[in-house]
Amino acid sequence: MRIYTYDRGRGITFTPREKRDLLITWLVLSFAFFMAWGGYAAPWPYAALFVLGISALAVFTGVILHEVGHKLESLKVGIWAEYRKWDMGLLIAFLTSLFGFLFAAPGAVHIMGMGTRKDMERIAVGGIRVNMLLAAALLATFFILGGVGSLATILWFIASVNSYLALFNMLPIPPLDGFQLMRLNFPKYIVYLVGVGVLFAVIQMAFFLLAYI
Ligand SMILES: [Zn+2]
Repeated sequence: MRIYTYDRGRGITFTPREKRDLLITWLVLSFAFFMAWGGYAAPWPYAALFVLGISALAVFTGVILHEVGHKLESLKVGIWAEYRKWDMGLLIAFLTSLFGFLFAAPGAVHIMGMGTRKDMERIAVGGIRVNMLLAAALLATFFILGGVGSLATILWFIASVNSYLALFNMLPIPPLDGFQLMRLNFPKYIVYLVGVGVLFAVIQMAFFLLAYI
C-alpha cells in the first residue's frame, strides 16, 4: 500500500516544516557535539569558534546528510518521506553533552507508505551509504594532501566521524538501520557490516600511519 506516491522525476524537495526540523536538529546537535568534545574549554573566541565550526561540519555530514540519504532513496522508489525531529531525543542529546558525552537520537525520516522488500532495503541503507561515500571521498582527499597539515587533519576527522556513525548505525538494535537491514536481508547486512568495519579500520590506521612514519 502506498499512501503518498511520489513522482520520481520531481527530484528531492523538502516541506517548510521539514526544513525547520532539519535546521533545529543541526543546531542542537552541533552545540551538543561541541560540548561533549570539550569545546567550552577552548580559548574564546577563535579556538572555540573553530571547534564549533568543525562540530557543525561533523553533524551536517554525519547526521543531516545521513537522514537526507534515507529520504532520497525513498523518493527514488516513489514513496514520499519526511524528516521529523524528536524533541525528547534532542533534549537528551543536549543534557548528556553537558556531562561530556553524547547520546543522540535526534529524529528520523518517516516513510509515508510501504514499498517492496527491496525498496525498504534501499531506504534502510540510504543513510549509511551517504556516510560511507563521504568517509571514502574525504579519506581519498586526505591521502592526496599527503596526510599532513590542518586541512588534511580536519578532513580525516570528518571522515572518521562519518565512518564511526555508519558503524554505530549498523548495530543490530532497534530502531537503528542495522536492525532494519538485518531483518530485511541478512546477507546484505553482513556485506554492509564488513564494508563499514573495514572502512572504519582503514580510516583509523591511515591517520597513525601517516602521522608516525
Ligand atoms: Zn539511518
